[in-house]
Amino acid sequence: MSQHQHLTGLTPQEVEESRIKHGANILTPPKRTPLWKLFLEKFGDPIIIILLLAGFCSLGIAAYEYFGLQHDSTVFFEPVGIFVAIFLATGLSFYFEQQADKEFKILNQVNDEEPVRVIREGNTTEVPKCDIVVGDIVMLGTGEDIPADAELLESTHLSVDESTLTGEPLCRKTTVPEEFDEEATFPSNHVLRGTKVMEGHAICRVTAVGDATENGKVLEAAQIDDSVKTPLNEQLDRLGKLITKISYAIALLILVGRTALYFVNHTGSIDWLDFTASFLSTFMVAVTVIVVAVPEGLPMAVTLSLAYSMRRMLKSNNLVRKMHACETMGATTVICTDKTGTLTQNQMSVSETQFYGLATQTLDNSDECGFITEGMAVNSTATLDLSGEKPSVLGNPTEGAILLWLHSQGLDYRTLRGNTTTLEELPFATERKYMATIVESGVFPGKKVLYVKGAPEIVHGLCATTSGNVDKATLDAQLLGYQRKAMRTLGFAYQILNDDDVTIVDQKVVAERLNFLGMVAISDPVRADVPQAVQECLSAGIDVKIVTGDTAATAGEIGRQIGLWGDHHSDHAIITGPEFEALTDEEVYNRVDELKIIARARPLDKKRLVETLQKRGHVVAVTGDGTNDAPALKTAHVGLSMGDGTSVAKEASDITIVDNSFSSIGRAVMWGRSLYQNIQRFILFQMTVNVAACCVVLAGAFMGTDSPLTVTQMLWVNLIMDTFAAMALASLPPSEGVMKDRPRHREAFIIDSTMKRGIIGTGALFFLILIGLVYVFEHADVTSLTDLCTLTLGGAEGLSRTEKSYIFTIFVMLQFWNLFNARAYLTGRSAFHFKGCQGFLLILLVILIGQFFIVSFGGQMFSVTPISITDWALIIGSTSIVVWVGEIYRFLRR
Ligand code: ATP
Repeated sequence: MSQHQHLTGLTPQEVEESRIKHGANILTPPKRTPLWKLFLEKFGDPIIIILLLAGFCSLGIAAYEYFGLQHDSTVFFEPVGIFVAIFLATGLSFYFEQQADKEFKILNQVNDEEPVRVIREGNTTEVPKCDIVVGDIVMLGTGEDIPADAELLESTHLSVDESTLTGEPLCRKTTVPEEFDEEATFPSNHVLRGTKVMEGHAICRVTAVGDATENGKVLEAAQIDDSVKTPLNEQLDRLGKLITKISYAIALLILVGRTALYFVNHTGSIDWLDFTASFLSTFMVAVTVIVVAVPEGLPMAVTLSLAYSMRRMLKSNNLVRKMHACETMGATTVICTDKTGTLTQNQMSVSETQFYGLATQTLDNSDECGFITEGMAVNSTATLDLSGEKPSVLGNPTEGAILLWLHSQGLDYRTLRGNTTTLEELPFATERKYMATIVESGVFPGKKVLYVKGAPEIVHGLCATTSGNVDKATLDAQLLGYQRKAMRTLGFAYQILNDDDVTIVDQKVVAERLNFLGMVAISDPVRADVPQAVQECLSAGIDVKIVTGDTAATAGEIGRQIGLWGDHHSDHAIITGPEFEALTDEEVYNRVDELKIIARARPLDKKRLVETLQKRGHVVAVTGDGTNDAPALKTAHVGLSMGDGTSVAKEASDITIVDNSFSSIGRAVMWGRSLYQNIQRFILFQMTVNVAACCVVLAGAFMGTDSPLTVTQMLWVNLIMDTFAAMALASLPPSEGVMKDRPRHREAFIIDSTMKRGIIGTGALFFLILIGLVYVFEHADVTSLTDLCTLTLGGAEGLSRTEKSYIFTIFVMLQFWNLFNARAYLTGRSAFHFKGCQGFLLILLVILIGQFFIVSFGGQMFSVTPISITDWALIIGSTSIVVWVGEIYRFLRR
């Protein structure tokens, strides 16, 4: 089909010139909405609108008091305080949203860095996608993204998914003019940026890059998909809605109750002006209850946690592509992993050869050797980058190992390849497990030769003869020997073709006189960190299953090396792809939990396994690197693609494991679980404050006095519990400890029974303490907290400003200490364990200093007066009991 042209590609100087002339291969991002516009959008939030309304009401009252009642200008402090609080809250949450947004953008950019195989200066090498220039010679393989618009120079069985541009999922592409599709949107010998190779491979010359490409014209950059609501999001939405409804009901109760009370107290003559002022202030209290109760911080906590987790996960080599995957990973109960590259290093090297026609296994000038070496060089899609000190493999690692072996024998595969003309090629497919190529031979001029390589038992099955007349039993015994050493085996065969020979029909080799040459055993050692990572997953209650294209013996040995497989496992725990396919759905259902290894598996076996596991109620994570793994990756709850897997696999997946290693998958589980727990901590903290604050204001409203907490005070409390707590708890580091628990149930409600008890118990306790104090302060004149020991209660006389300062500070300090408890929740550790919690400590400090400043200098605005040092010490000391009780509880549980 194609003569291997001698393509040299561009020189570094030509690359530079082209870049200056045609630009870089980067799409200009769409114009961003200006920041001020985004900030203003925040004011569309119903809560902010309500707050603004409250601010204006307060301003109205202040104006009435100032102009109508001739009060002094300090009456304006409260409305000013409200506006400041609104700007502070919206400003802060806006800032953090922007930060999170930035993180996502950084993650999206990784796409531009994907390596692309190019020929430059006569050598095949890899450069980042963004470095491709017009005129570059690019090599494309199955599953790869097309990096720029290009014209085909050579192509073999090329099909391209152009759905991103034309909606066409499978376009045949070719260099043969007679096969051109006249009706196709784009010429048949052109490939376009942003589309993908679904089948075959090609070499092409770049004609346009960046914005000049068709893709650049319609600009649609790959984005992290955050549109799909995660199960957690949905749960939190429901929770948020429920709390909102309750808070509206409480607000209404306050409004109606206090208005009724006003009329009861003012029977006879009603001063409507006074009533309006009183109504407005009640209205503001009601509004504040809503503002305090509605967990605006919740979405922010989730976004912050996700952004933080995603960034940290990237550091541990997990690139999250779909946001929900972060948390779903935490609920995973089964991981179906493939072997090559994930459990093993993917550093393949030929460690033994067994060619039956060669007595000493050394290459000589014999015909047998000619067929072996030419077959190895031409029946292959890999290339070597020979520009560095050591040759490195580009493309398929198995084939690369064979080219490296040729190189070690002093043979240049490029010469062997260059001397042949490829007539037909049947690419390697996991389903078939072999690859075949027909060439006009260079070693045997004038001869047409069919070369086949693949799984030895399958290739041998296609052969009529074997070199050296070796029988099948000998071959099988040798194969088993290699496999027991965890080696990957590859058999080779050839046939010299006559003109009328039928060779490949329906994508299958049907040649009748194939001769089996022998085989190579390729070693690919287990990654050093995998056994421990597997152990970690097993002790975290996560089952691990190997699904591999390799043989049962090799997979079993790898399983043994990583601690997944032992003598105690019965034959029931291992199955081959064809056996698995033969089982009925019911049999699979009954056996699937027990299965540990599926060997010689095909992609559809993987999909069926995932589906059955899901039917059994498992949360399944599955790894895959090939284009045909896409269905399984899509079906799984979390699809994990490999960093050097194909773009198609990556696109179908939810997370890309950048370093391909199984241990990174373990890290992802840890992050997922930690993320969930951080959100639980935030909810625990916030709901406790909610219960306490709402009850205090509600009770205060019906005790007939001023609200014990003023509007501006409550807004500060809101800032603490929403923004600050979200920041503090969302950024807590993950704990290794989570890997000792069982996976959570995917459908389980995020507020578990312990949290429920904590929220109601602690919230009620805080409420009783505060309302008790309100009662005492109302019935006695307290000027220092030491008075509490000697005081006698008299008639109700309202709350002085000093007393309000006490209540406010005690309330805030109770929350302050409770933040420690929330932080320690589920850690099984002391709340004073601060390793890696700098952010958390900083926020505690901000709260403490903030409260001190507000009380000392907040005056009229916060209805406070400065508190003496003794009182501060008393408040801090006595409220800290919250954390001490928590410590004792945690100690007892330990
Ligand atoms: P895993 O699915 O765990 O990554 P795997 O890579 O061994 O396992 P496959 O890629 O399906 O699975 O390979 C199955 C068998 O096919 C290999 O054991 C080998 O004998 C043969 N094989 C692999 N790659 C090629 C190739 N490029 N050309 C010919 N035969 C191959």
